[in-house]
Amino acid sequence: MNLPFEPVCEHCRYFKPADAVNGSCHRFPPVFAGDASPREAHHWRFPLVGPHAWCGEFLPARAAQMSSSGVTI
Ligand code: SF4
Repeated sequence: MNLPFEPVCEHCRYFKPADAVNGSCHRFPPVFAGDASPREAHHWRFPLVGPHAWCGEFLPARAAQMSSSGVTI
């Protein structure tokens, strides 16, 4: 199968970039991340993923999410 992009997180509809090297996956609701922090908002997190990671839930980003270089924005 030839795709016009690599099926990796940075090209996935569910990827939200956080900075140049990390992002979060929003395919599913946040998961429990521990209760060490007293703030409830810190107990649940979307999984952190790298732009070149991938999984079987990959779905291509919409054209509006893609820049001319093919990177999600
Ligand atoms: S490829 Fe998988 S892990 Fe990566 S952003 Fe998409 S759904 Fe999440």
